[in-house]
Amino acid sequence: MSDGRDRVVQWLRDAHAMEQQAETMLNAQASRLEHYPKLRQRIQRHIEETKTQAARLQTCLGQLASDTSGVKDLAGRLAAMAQGLGGMFAGDEVVKGAMAGYVFEHVEIASYVSLISAAEHEGLPEAARVCRENLEEERAMADWLQNHLPDVTRAFLAREQAGGPAKR
Ligand code: MG
Ligand code: FE
Repeated sequence: MSDGRDRVVQWLRDAHAMEQQAETMLNAQASRLEHYPKLRQRIQRHIEETKTQAARLQTCLGQLASDTSGVKDLAGRLAAMAQGLGGMFAGDEVVKGAMAGYVFEHVEIASYVSLISAAEHEGLPEAARVCRENLEEERAMADWLQNHLPDVTRAFLAREQAGGPAKR
């Protein structure tokens, strides 16, 4: 196994850990939302997509005959990065949560854009294909959040000004 291929495998494991972190954060966010059903529904859909993304990466790693014992360490490392974003999710304000979601989708987008080029460079077309599938879903989620952030923001302000519960 070449060093470059080892590197791609490592990045695929990182991506797998990233998706596990994403699932945790999205679950936390969805379970808190009460007054924003459209946002909640879209997040729930993305939770299902996220589980599929992790499974695709797992299958891909299996095909590359990779030892998955290192996954936990990498997950820990990535968790530290995600902690900051997780903190934003943990805040009880819907607008900040939607913003944090938008940021996180772009972390995922950057990961897959990089991984696709790495996989192609190392002659691993199946890995590249899996990353493209995941990338498409991350872009769709990022676009949705961008398009709905104004609505969420206005709904928040309207609820707050009406004196009702607004934050989640
Ligand atoms: Mg994802
Ligand atoms: Fe995502």
